[in-house]
Amino acid sequence: MQLTLLTIKLLHLQTLMRIYLEKSGRHYRADLTAPIDISLPLKTGQDTVNCYYADEVTYSTIAVGDFVGSTLQGGSCNYQRISLTPHGNGTHTECYGHISTDGATIHECHKDFFSLALLITVPLLTLPNGDQIVTLESIEKNVLYNRPDTLIIRTLPNDDTKKTRHYSGTNPPYLEASIGTYLADKGIKHLLLDLPSVDKEWDEGALSAHRNFWGLPPCHQPIDEKEIRKDCTITELIYVPDNVADGLYLLNLQIASFLSDASPSKPILYQLWEEEVKEIIDYFGAIL
Ligand SMILES: [Zn+2]
Repeated sequence: MQLTLLTIKLLHLQTLMRIYLEKSGRHYRADLTAPIDISLPLKTGQDTVNCYYADEVTYSTIAVGDFVGSTLQGGSCNYQRISLTPHGNGTHTECYGHISTDGATIHECHKDFFSLALLITVPLLTLPNGDQIVTLESIEKNVLYNRPDTLIIRTLPNDDTKKTRHYSGTNPPYLEASIGTYLADKGIKHLLLDLPSVDKEWDEGALSAHRNFWGLPPCHQPIDEKEIRKDCTITELIYVPDNVADGLYLLNLQIASFLSDASPSKPILYQLWEEEVKEIIDYFGAIL
């Protein structure tokens, strides 16, 4: 009987790959075989989301002597050069080096590859000047329960044209600058959103929401090194489909190891279920 139970559990594990984790005294379960990819892929041509007047992503085949880096053209393998602009093409993650002068890089700053993330959905408010913003009030309405490290903002409307939009010169929606301060005060280390930037497209270089989030003063004012939140990141141009419910997730936020302020990134969500410690002990007790 015990052997049968063990066999069933192992088969179950082979398909589920379940993990248990603890954060701030609470216990969760996640299934690593059910990833929810909220990144936007980098395709050549017009179908890749684009902003800040970035050139399109390009892939070019490398040829050296008799070798051509294309299997379609008779080469032994594919070998391509890729040209991209992290801040302007697709999902990307940036560190405070985006607005500092010390050369901070995303490779050195980003170490929280896994974090507890809260996904919220918020409407946009249209201001008298036509700007569309996410308000601090709409963020505050969402109780940041279970002390997440990460906040993921899905804005409404959420149609899938967001996946391929060309935002340059359109004055896209942005965050009220006080949201940066609010999230820093709440200990949110990583912010992800489905907009090109947390700040207005052209704001005379103020980048106030960026600065508030990372603990940097307004431009050209003296910087207090201790105030800078060096291990915090902002990820822009994600897309969260409607069928992904608001709530808590395990986030795996991967980047390429660029020694630059930003990198293309791949945020992956895993649904979390809160567990009683007893259930976890029972579970392991049953399979051991
Ligand atoms: Zn950016």
